[in-house]
Parts: sequence; C-alpha cells; structure tokens
Amino acid sequence: MKFYVRTYGCQMNVADSNEMGRHLRARGLVETDDPDEASVMLVNTCTVRQHAEDRAFSEIGRLKRWKATRSGRKVVVTGCAAERTKAYLEDRFPFVDMVVGAKSIEDFGQMTERLLDRRETDEELDYAIRSVDDKVAAFVTVMRGCNYSCTYCIVPYVRGREIYHSMDQILDETRNRVREGAREITLLGQTVNSYRHAQYRFAHLLQAVSVVPGVKRVRYISPHPYYMTDSVIETMATVPQVCEALHLPVQSGSNTMLKAMARNYTREQYMTLIAKMRQAMPEMTISTDIIVGFPGETDADFQQTLSMIEELQFDWGFIFKYSTREGTPAARFDCLPQEVIEERHQRCLELIDRIALAKRLRLVGTTQEVLVEEDDFGRTRTNYKVHVNGNVMQSETIRVRITSAHRATLEGELDNGNITFKNFREEGGCAGART
Ligand code: SAM
Ligand code: SF4
Repeated sequence: MKFYVRTYGCQMNVADSNEMGRHLRARGLVETDDPDEASVMLVNTCTVRQHAEDRAFSEIGRLKRWKATRSGRKVVVTGCAAERTKAYLEDRFPFVDMVVGAKSIEDFGQMTERLLDRRETDEELDYAIRSVDDKVAAFVTVMRGCNYSCTYCIVPYVRGREIYHSMDQILDETRNRVREGAREITLLGQTVNSYRHAQYRFAHLLQAVSVVPGVKRVRYISPHPYYMTDSVIETMATVPQVCEALHLPVQSGSNTMLKAMARNYTREQYMTLIAKMRQAMPEMTISTDIIVGFPGETDADFQQTLSMIEELQFDWGFIFKYSTREGTPAARFDCLPQEVIEERHQRCLELIDRIALAKRLRLVGTTQEVLVEEDDFGRTRTNYKVHVNGNVMQSETIRVRITSAHRATLEGELDNGNITFKNFREEGGCAGART
C-alpha cells in the first residue's frame, strides 16, 4: 500500500509530514511521489494566510475524483487549517476519511491504526519492507505551539501553547535521523530559541545536538529576536557544526507597526542584534520575513521597512501581503485597500531581490563548503542552494568554486577534486573566502 503526502506551509508542517510519514511506514506503507499509485492521500494544510488555506481546500475538492477511481482509497487531511475548520471540512468534503488537527499530530500514529483497520480488503495492501527516510538534511521538532500573541497570527490558536520536548527525546530523534542518513539537523519550533526544558536552554540544545556522532551541520528555525541571547550567539560563533546562517523574521521596520503587531522588540533593538551577530560571525547570512500592508501601515511606516532592508542588506527574505485571520486581534482593525498592499508588496520584493542578487553575485569566484543533499544539489553553510557540476555523491561535504549566480541558486564546480574535509573553519578559512 502506498501513500502520497502533499504539504502546504512552513517547515513545521514539513516536519509534521515527515513524522506522519514515519508512522505510515511503520505500518508497512511505502511513500510514492505519484498520486495515481497511492492508496492513502495525506494533505497537510496551512492556515497562516488565506491564500494557503484556499489552495489546500481546492486540492481536497479535487480528491473526490481521485478517491472514486479506485476502491479502498483514503483521504486524510491534517495540519493547521484542519485544526481551525474541522467541522467545516467534514461538512464540505464528506468523502474525507480522517481529519487530524495540528494539535493532535502526536496522536497521528494511533489514529492511523484505526483508519487502516477500516480498510475494505486485505488484497488491497501490498505490504513492503519498512523504508527509511534517506534525507541528508532532516528536521527535528524541539517544541510545539507558541506563547506569543502577534496580533496578525493564527498559529497560537491552531497549534496551542508551547510544549517543549525533553533533551533526551531530541537527542534520540537526532540519532534516529542520522541513522537514516541525515548529516544536517534543523531544529524546529515557532520560537525555537525560547527552548527551555529542565535546566536546559537553547544554547545547551545547540551544543548537545552538534556533538551527536554523524552530525555535520546544525541549523534552527524560526528564532524570535527576543531570545537571541549572547549565549546563543556565542554558541553559533564557536561551535563548528552550527552554521552561520539565520532566518530571523522582523515583520516590519516601523516601531509603530511592531507595537501594533505585539512583536516585543523595536527596530533599533533588532538592528543592534544584527550588528552584534555580524560582528561575531562576519560571514553569516541573514534572511527575514516581512509583512506589508498591516492595518494602519502608513507610507512613512512602509518607508521605514524599505530603509531597514537597505540598511541591513538582508541576504534574502520572504515578503508577505497581510492576510486577515479570523479570530486574531488584528482582524478587528480596518484593512488597507488591496491595491496599496499589492503595490507595497511589489516594491518590497523588488528591493529585497535586488539586494539578494547582488549578494549572490559577490560569491562568484569564492570557494564554498557544500553538503550534497541530492543528485547534484547541495547547500553552503550559509544556506545557499548550489547546483554542482561534476561527479558528486549524496551526503559528501565538498569544496565548490562558485561560477555563476541566479535568482534563487548558485552554480559551481568541484574545486580541487573531491576533497572531503571535516570543517572549513578548522582549515583557517571562512565560508566565503575568495580564492
Ligand atoms: N514563528 C515565526 C516567527 O515568529 O517569526 C513565524 C511563523 S509564521 C508561520 C511565518 C511567517 O508568516 C511570519 O513570520 C509572518 O511573516 C507570516 N505571517 C503570519 N501571519 C500572517 C498574516 N496574517 N498575514 C501575512 N503574513 C503572515
Ligand atoms: Fe505567530 Fe508570533 Fe508565534 Fe511567530 S511568534 S508563531 S508570528 S504568534
């Protein structure tokens, strides 16, 4: 029996999909990348913006035909939109076999038992040997939920309050991912650096995961600026496995907007933090999330966001149009006209893309440490995706000379043949050094 997973949304959802996939594999199912071959279709939904929810719902609608073309097929809908709209989903799509909200992902294993026990006939099941997740870069969830109440955000409503996994659980999971082939671990949580369990804080977690045998690289997402403590920065700067790349959502460059969003920091505090990190790790890349068109955003507020992007020279960023989420505090405020939001979105995108391309172009001619993830693709420590020309093997760490830069990727060739090395920093170089 095969299953197909369609994931919408953020890395937390990807990690949840992976976790649900592991439960299905443990039951003998095999993953396929062809929906026509599948008997179980899992749609893991997102509700962070209306657009993401609409896309998932129209896909679920199309699954009625998919299900009808072969008997015994099952449709499972999971994730944040499933949490928010369970009753509506069951009503609008009665052919859906199981709805699992984001707060219940950890019960997915048990729920699947019930679903699969309801199968029509055993002949439909072509059990295969248990397959393993062979991803070189794997996610490990360290916390679920969020204790913040950013006024635009639906996440705390659909994922609940923060729950932290224990250090032992996280290290066990890391070892399992390494056994399955992972060399890079990304620690995940909505405010991942607020981690606290027993006497452990986030910096301890970074240090402990880094020394798990087989782990070559450690990343984390999404950190909140409030918890970027000196000990986290120092750990990043001194523990070789922790990569010098950070996605640190800022949301706006205007203090008025940051206050209205309840983000708990000011423009100045964010900028000081970036300066401190760049001083500790001059080669690091910093990316961000920005929301344009939040209710009440004036031209002057928007200019503050543009000027912050210029000043901080982000390496890349996601620019989101504000989307009203029912039940959040901001949903009570008057929305800006859609054309204003569109126009600001466009201007912001142009700016961030222009800076991103200029920064990529500066890497042409440099030598980078690349961990090969699949076929001929890998990532630099600074999290640039690189297409490598040459004979490369999955999970190898290689030197790549960057030959050109495109909008989203870099192009490169093997430098000095296939030399594997422990860590670039140990050789006295820094990622980004010119050859
Ligand atoms: N927990 C992370 C943090 O605080 O940075 C982010 C989680 S959220 C899933 C990812 C991004 O979606 C946010 O950083 C924000 O930019 C964007 N986002 C969240 N709610 C939004 C909304 N209502 N409209 C537009 N963008 C939104
Ligand atoms: Fe949403 Fe804010 Fe929590 Fe991030 S920190 S998940 S934006 S409420």
